[in-house]
Amino acid sequence: MPILIFLDHADGQVKKASLEAICYGAKIAEQIGQQAEAVLLGTVDQDLAALGAYGIQKVYQVPDEQLNHLDSQVYCHMLAEITKQTEAKLVVFANNLSGKSVAPRLSVRLGAALVSGAVALPITSSGFLVKKNVFSGKAFAMVSLNTPIKIIALNPNSFPITHGEGKAEVKTLTLAPEIARVKVLTQTKSSGEIPLTEAEIVISGGRGLKGPENWGMIEELAKLLHAATACSRPVADAHWRPHNEHVGQTGIAIAPNLYVAIGISGAIQHLAGVNRSKVIVVINKDPEAPFFKAADYGIVGDAFEVVPKMIEAVKKLKGIS
Ligand SMILES: Cc1cc2nc3c(=O)[nH]c(=O)nc-3n(C[C@H](O)[C@H](O)[C@H](O)COP(=O)(O)OP(=O)(O)OC[C@H]3O[C@@H](n4cnc5c(N)ncnc54)[C@H](O)[C@@H]3O)c2cc1C
Repeated sequence: MPILIFLDHADGQVKKASLEAICYGAKIAEQIGQQAEAVLLGTVDQDLAALGAYGIQKVYQVPDEQLNHLDSQVYCHMLAEITKQTEAKLVVFANNLSGKSVAPRLSVRLGAALVSGAVALPITSSGFLVKKNVFSGKAFAMVSLNTPIKIIALNPNSFPITHGEGKAEVKTLTLAPEIARVKVLTQTKSSGEIPLTEAEIVISGGRGLKGPENWGMIEELAKLLHAATACSRPVADAHWRPHNEHVGQTGIAIAPNLYVAIGISGAIQHLAGVNRSKVIVVINKDPEAPFFKAADYGIVGDAFEVVPKMIEAVKKLKGIS
């Protein structure tokens, strides 16, 4: 009875959040003495056998290009079938956009208990207990999963990616996809070279930056640090930045390793989307700004003086003139 890990992919590559899910699933498999296997719907440019280095023994692939675009109904149908065929009793997803849309459907289809937003390995000594984030990351809950088949959706950036040696067996499955009830006619890629939800570093700007014409320094710093850019809600509402950059309670929730908030006050609704970041750096000219209470490092100063100095320092470190 293997543990089945769902592999989310985009632009021909398995997403970082799914690599975390693999390592998490592989660790559980080790903990309970089972095999860790993964399933990929669609095609990618990478060698799937190489994923064995992350701890899985087998990858099932349905190499149909029509599956390269997520359709949660079709995916759910196929994953239910594969779960039954493999007799998996635990399915692991990354709790990203794909996981959030497919895991709940699969849970209903299989009558499986689901915990979304898991942040730690399950406790399996008596029952099956999983720790998860609740109240926008302000508290934790322990959830007991009591059904024969269980589903865990792991919060991105909650489990480290570890890489060793090993090759996975790749098995091609020829399942006919269910006829899609929804057809994607066009897709427009959002701006930004690095997807916000996948970024290790995020440079974010708020109303303190005064206007869209001042985002040049934010973009320059982001580029130097290989970071994604984000913003507060009023900034997106004022069309200074696109809405896909808006983070917070009503925007995207992120958990990068480093979140740099520049000219953002730190309202509770903003914090709800960024407080799972590993390290928070706040730059604000008001020493009383609430964001400083949530910050690991704070710089009290004018963004228009501090950010150019940071750019200069990073360039110096990287030997760029
Ligand atoms: C239901 C609801 C949902 C919401 N959802 C979200 C959400 O998802 N995301 C979100 O962000 N907000 C959300 N909000 C809005 C939120 O309450 C705040 O109004 C918003 O986050 C404030 O944005 P800000 O910090 O950019 O602007 P401000 O509150 O205006 O703060 C600007 C900050 O910049 C500082 N500053 C000014 N000039 C400089 C300078 N030169 N250098 C350095 N610092 C400077 C100021 O000291 C100040 O702290 C929501 C509100 C509601 C009611």
